[in-house]
Amino acid sequence: MEEAQNLPLGDRERLFGYIEGGGKVILSEPQALLTEAPKMPGLDGQKMSKSYDNTIGLREDSESITKKIRTMPTDPARVKRSDPGEPEKCPVWQFHLVYSDEKRKQWVQQGCRSAGIGCLECKQPVIDSVLEEQKPMRERAQQYLEDPTLVRSIIADGCEKAGKLAQETLREVKEVMGLNYS
Ligand code: SF4
Repeated sequence: MEEAQNLPLGDRERLFGYIEGGGKVILSEPQALLTEAPKMPGLDGQKMSKSYDNTIGLREDSESITKKIRTMPTDPARVKRSDPGEPEKCPVWQFHLVYSDEKRKQWVQQGCRSAGIGCLECKQPVIDSVLEEQKPMRERAQQYLEDPTLVRSIIADGCEKAGKLAQETLREVKEVMGLNYS
């Protein structure tokens, strides 16, 4: 692959032209594979980032996650429990958009705007959902924490597979370019 990247521009154009003309894509451009929630907000509603100190670790312990979500900022208009709020101005709402179904979203919208629910009450289903989501991750990770040689052998297997695929791609590229030297 490194050799293909280092091709002079003319050769690259000829290569891609040949490949496109032949209807065979050898160097296909990687595309993003996104989940339903490709952007996960941070605890303050900004992009989740370690440098913003607004993250939730994938295997963070449940007490710490609970505390972080319970102390998340909310709509500043809700100073008292009896003050109505606006979900669109609250970072917790962005979490509901990711974790809650339509029924719960309506419960939040109505309860927030009418001061019918308190912020801690509103945050609890988010806490439950995050903990529920992370439970299998913690369980799956445990065997690798207990035996790191498993990780090393997975990496070694992956390297071997990737090396074989790269060699095959390079062979095809050389073939279509008429570079049959080894
Ligand atoms: S009720 Fe929920 S959406 Fe409304 S301000 Fe409080 S935490 Fe945010």
